[in-house]
Amino acid sequence: MTAVDELVAGLDAAAGVWIGGQWRSGSSGRFAVDDPADGTTIAEVADAGAPDAAAAVDAAAAAAADWAATPPRQRSTVLHSVFELMRADLEQLAALITAENGKALSDARAEVGYAAEFFRWYAEEAVRSDGTVSPAPGGGARTLVTQRPVGVAALVTPWNFPAAMVTRKIAPALAAGCTVVVKPAAETPLTALAIARLLARAGVPDGVVNVVPTTDPGVVVGAWLADPRVRKVSFTGSTPVGRLLLHQAADRVLNASMELGGNAPFVVTADADLSAAVDGAMIAKFRGGGQACTAANRFLVHADVADAFTGLLAERVQALRVGPGADPATEVGPLINARAVARVAGLVDRARSAGARVVAEAAVPRGSGYWCPPVVLADVPAGADLVTEEIFGPIAPVVTYRSDAELIELANATEMGLAAYVYSRDLHTALRLAERIDAGMVGVNRGVVSDPAAPFGGMKQSGLGREGAREGLQAFTETQYLSVDWPA
Ligand code: NAD
Repeated sequence: MTAVDELVAGLDAAAGVWIGGQWRSGSSGRFAVDDPADGTTIAEVADAGAPDAAAAVDAAAAAAADWAATPPRQRSTVLHSVFELMRADLEQLAALITAENGKALSDARAEVGYAAEFFRWYAEEAVRSDGTVSPAPGGGARTLVTQRPVGVAALVTPWNFPAAMVTRKIAPALAAGCTVVVKPAAETPLTALAIARLLARAGVPDGVVNVVPTTDPGVVVGAWLADPRVRKVSFTGSTPVGRLLLHQAADRVLNASMELGGNAPFVVTADADLSAAVDGAMIAKFRGGGQACTAANRFLVHADVADAFTGLLAERVQALRVGPGADPATEVGPLINARAVARVAGLVDRARSAGARVVAEAAVPRGSGYWCPPVVLADVPAGADLVTEEIFGPIAPVVTYRSDAELIELANATEMGLAAYVYSRDLHTALRLAERIDAGMVGVNRGVVSDPAAPFGGMKQSGLGREGAREGLQAFTETQYLSVDWPA
C-alpha cells in the first residue's frame, strides 16, 4: 500500500462529508477523484447536495457560541497542534496533493510547509487581539473599540493549492473565533478531508470545521450564501466565479473576501542580473506547472537584454523534466485535466498564428496523463490572448519594451492586479517601477511573494481583501465600538 492508499483508506472518503465531527455519505452519491498523471481513479468521494449543505451550517451554527467563547490561549494551543501534526504528516500530505493535483512532489512538500505555517502564524495571532480605548472628543464618554468573530463563515477553495488555500482561510477563521463550512474543489477534495482529520486530532471541537465536497458547487455554496446563519464568504478561485458569488452575496449584504485570478507581469530591466532573473522566472512561472494565481503570466523584458534573457530561459526550460509528480526527478507535473491542456494549447497556437516564435519546448511523457509541454515564446504581440488571459499553464511569453512609460502601460494593461515581479540591479529603479504597477504584491528581485506573515491579495478584479498577516485575521472579525458613559 502506498502512503496515498493508506491515507485514502483511513479517510473513508466514500463517506467523506465531514459534519459535526462525523463522516457521512453525501446525499448525491459519490464522485471519482482522478490522478492527472494517468487519469486513473484514486478514490471515490461522497458527493454532497443541499441537505448536506444545510446540515453543515446546522453544525457550524451549533458550535459557534462555544468556540467564540473559548479563551484565545486555548484556541491558540489547538492551532499550534494542527501546525505540528501537519509538519509530522508532511510526506503523506504531500503525496496526497501530488496524487490528486498532479504537481511535482517537491512543489507539494513546499505547499504543505506553507499551508502548515498558517496554523503557526494564526496560533500566534489568536492571542493578540487588541482594541482601543479613547476619550470621546466631546467629553463625557469613552470609546471602546474591540473585534469580535464575524460568525459562521463559508470557505470555497480551488484545486491548485489543495492544502494551502484551505488552511489560509481555516487558520485565521478559527483564530478569530469563527466556525466554518468548507467546500474544497471537486478535483482535490482528499487533501481537505485529510486536513479535517488532523484538525479533529488536534482537538478542534466537533462542528467548528465542516467539509463538504460536491460536484454541484452552485447548490451547496448557493445554499450557504442564502442561509441567514452564514455571516461571511471567503472565496479563492477564478474571477468569473468570484463575480457570481459577489452578486449572490449582495442579496444578503454578506461580508465577502475574494482572492481571484491573476495575470502577473515579470519585468526584467536593462540592468537586471539576468542569471538571478532566470532563477526567479523558473519559480514564478513553473511552480505547480504554472497553475498558480501568482504565476508570471507575461515576461516584459527590456529590448536591450531580451535576446540574452530569452536564451538563458530557453536553455533552462528545454531541460525541464516533465513527468508524474510522484517521480522524485520530476520538476513539472501534468496539468489538472484534459480541458486545461486543450485551453493552453489553443492559447499557444493562436499566439503562433499571430507571429510568436517557439524558442524552447520541453519534452513530455507519452501516454495518458494531462501533459502540456513547458514552452518559451519570443516576439509575442502585446495583444495576444496568451498575454491578456490568465494562462494557468507552463508557457512563458516574452514581450519586449523600450521605455519605462511603455513598460508601465503594458504591465497595467489588464483588469487583473494580483502579483508582479521586477528584476533590476538598482533597487531604486526596481522600487520606483514596483510602485507604479497596479498589483497587490510585487516580488522585487524575488520569484516568490507568498508568506503567511504578509498580506496576500489583489487589486482591481483580482480580488477584495487580503489573506495572511494581521489583515487575514481581521477579515474574520467585526469591529464593535462601545460608547461608555464616563462622567468626569
Ligand atoms: P474556479 O473559480 O473554477 O473554482 C474555485 C472554487 O469555486 C471551486 O471550489 C469550485 O468548485 C467553486 N465553484 C465553481 N463554480 C461555482 C459556482 N457556480 N458557485 C459556487 N462555487 C463554485 O477556479 P479554479 O479553476 O478551481 O482555480 C483557478 C483559479 O483560481 C484561477 O483563476 C486562479 O488565479 C485562482 N486562484 C486565485 C488565488 C488567489 O489567492 N488570488 C489562489 C489560487 C487560485
